[in-house]
Amino acid sequence: MSRGRPAGYARAAADTIRNKPQIRSAVTAATKSFDAHRREAWSQIDVDAWRDWCRDVKQHVVTHLDRYLEEAEAKLLANGVRVHWAESAEEALAVLGAVVDEAGIRRVVKAKSMLTEELGVNEYLEGRGVHVRETDLGEYIIQLLGEPPSHIVGPAIHRSLDDSRRLFHEHFGTPMDSSPEALAATARQALREEFLAADLGISGGNFLVAETGTLALIENEGNIRLSTSAPPVHVAFVGIEKLLPRIADLSGFLQITARAATGQPIGNYVSLISGPRRAGEIDGPETVHVVLVDNGRTRLLGEDVAWEALRCVRCGACLNICPVYRQTGGHPYGFTYSGPIGAILAPGLLGLEEAMPLPFASSLCGACADVCPVRIPIPDILLHWRERAVEAGLVPASERLGMRAYAALAERPRAFAAAGAGLRFVPWALGGRALPVLGGWSGERAPPELSPRPFHRLWKEGIE
Ligand code: SF4
Repeated sequence: MSRGRPAGYARAAADTIRNKPQIRSAVTAATKSFDAHRREAWSQIDVDAWRDWCRDVKQHVVTHLDRYLEEAEAKLLANGVRVHWAESAEEALAVLGAVVDEAGIRRVVKAKSMLTEELGVNEYLEGRGVHVRETDLGEYIIQLLGEPPSHIVGPAIHRSLDDSRRLFHEHFGTPMDSSPEALAATARQALREEFLAADLGISGGNFLVAETGTLALIENEGNIRLSTSAPPVHVAFVGIEKLLPRIADLSGFLQITARAATGQPIGNYVSLISGPRRAGEIDGPETVHVVLVDNGRTRLLGEDVAWEALRCVRCGACLNICPVYRQTGGHPYGFTYSGPIGAILAPGLLGLEEAMPLPFASSLCGACADVCPVRIPIPDILLHWRERAVEAGLVPASERLGMRAYAALAERPRAFAAAGAGLRFVPWALGGRALPVLGGWSGERAPPELSPRPFHRLWKEGIE
């Protein structure tokens, strides 16, 4: 039951965003702020050396997954953790269903986890009549709004303070001029009761250390620690690519991930979970389950170039710098993971046809690759998926013909110059009407003024 993309979703969501400038300005402001903090945090370290090291470690893990997965499983079992393998979303949810039945679960608190979004955990539990409450403040807000996350790190960045005031006023009767602190205190009070009443806590996992069977979780609010320690049962869903070989690797990854995501030297809280509560310990769950989820990752691993996307640590830095994402936010992507990483993961995890046209939702400016802490070659992977889409006949015939015609012209300088000269008459011939093949585009924009001298002539004569 992988959560695919409803047909036409992306287009409909893009149209919605176009008519909501307040969402665009909220996303642009938040991403610029995240990115400014990342720059500052990176300026404090020898960032190129760190990025090379992180790339190499993840590259090693991803190309030796069989070995490290077996090692992680053995260590987790030795630590008293119950380990499950899930090839698909259906299998992962079946594991969860068995835990719910076995322990008689009625109330769940959830830490922020993109993998559980990918799997559709909330919908599954609610369908079984189980109460589920998101506990990250941003996730809590969008759960009350009935929306999916818009960003990997900041799920509610598309919403303004006034949106939250209105929402809390409707749900809790708080004044419409409440301060952010007052709103947070209201959520905190409501969530405290959820933590105490829950019989299951669900989390994802930022990293899983094979050497020790340690699950590492990064957060800023303390809700993950409460979700994973207050209820008697903890279920962690972990993508099979989230492994690190040694506990010594963790320190570098905890720091680079936080610096890339929010500009912090490290997250406010880092939880290292190595098993259920031991004798004499005052808190912690009695039972811990780790579900190792594939759900398309092995298939992606077999894909030329695109497999490098499995190095991703989900920091969101590529979203924050992306000129497309900054205008749209995450919803128009129509997939759990948005922005540049979403555009390269979707074809691998959902299948190319279902992911269309995400690989084309990029200007290929390369800014995403410049900021990726594990040096994923995102533009190369976008081109890879575009080539695959052309081969599979997923690109409209008109576009294929147009590109072929352009390539034929571009290879013949004289014909190219003649065509360029001819194009100069098009605006005159159309008399202000939109060019039919660019109808959607030119319907929204005024065509630019033509330069009196074409570029190739300027180039030849020496640009002044
Ligand atoms: S692709 Fe790189 S920059 Fe983007 S979320 Fe993943 S690790 Fe971060």
